[in-house]
Amino acid sequence: MTKKAETDTTTVPQVETVAALRDRVATWRNAGLRIGFVPTMGALHQGHLSLVDYARDHADRVVVSIFVNPKQFGPSEDFDRYPRQLAEDRAKLATVGTDLLYAPSVAEMYPEGFSTTVSVAGVTEGLCGASRPGHFDGVATVVTKLLLQAQADVAVFGEKDYQQYLTLKRLVQDLDIPTRILPGPTVRDADGLAMSSRNAYLSAPEREIALALPRTLTRMVEVLEAGQDDIDAVLRQGRAALQEAGITQVEYLELRDAETLRPVTRLTAPARVLAAVRVGQTRLIDNMAVTPPRR
Ligand code: AMP
Repeated sequence: MTKKAETDTTTVPQVETVAALRDRVATWRNAGLRIGFVPTMGALHQGHLSLVDYARDHADRVVVSIFVNPKQFGPSEDFDRYPRQLAEDRAKLATVGTDLLYAPSVAEMYPEGFSTTVSVAGVTEGLCGASRPGHFDGVATVVTKLLLQAQADVAVFGEKDYQQYLTLKRLVQDLDIPTRILPGPTVRDADGLAMSSRNAYLSAPEREIALALPRTLTRMVEVLEAGQDDIDAVLRQGRAALQEAGITQVEYLELRDAETLRPVTRLTAPARVLAAVRVGQTRLIDNMAVTPPRR
């Protein structure tokens, strides 16, 4: 169904302004083409590139944005040192047939006098919302802008950031934004660690320790799906396993409903185990699906 990308392995065309983006997208829309959109903060890895492939399966043209959004970082977080490598990213995007790279500046996104915040209640409360105050407001505000700027038919977000994905699904529904939000599966390195631009911060020994995160979540999923119904015990064992492996700073480790993110006390509907931990200075998140066992 998809039409061939305009670019294959040549350089991906790049725009930096809302006007130029709108122009390019309008030409495609007028030709009856469907637009797919993949918002990112750059420092691209295979996880991001898989979302481009996924978008291509649902659209004729794929736009990727790279914007390190200052509004979603707390004052003591890593905004300043977040990896920025636009030329390298652009080359990677060419290998997956991206049609357009949108790389706005902070001044283009938030011009002098910018005063609006978009805030989603409910699914943003707890988990990362509790440990990163203001984070989801920053995400909701920038994604609202990006979606209105790009006028895409579909936008793909990774399940890696599961709470963010649910927040954005809620956002487009509540604000009647005519873009369908699609979830892209989490891509992992061969050792199991979910790919993340922040993995670059980990030293080799820290990375070894970090592997306990996917290992522990996998084990918890197995135990829950095998029918263990003492959820508190599973969570306690999970925390103990992380501690034992050297992950002493566990921000949260929880079992939540896969749709509402409400805490689960009995596993009767699709759920998700979600965790945020710190290994050294690096904050890592991960989550996995849990299917209720047939009883
Ligand atoms: P980021 O650049 O970290 O803001 O991520 C941009 C998009 O890529 C978000 O929708 C993320 O959820 C998604 N993403 C990040 N890491 C992965 C991964 N390992 N697998 C799949 N998607 C990912």
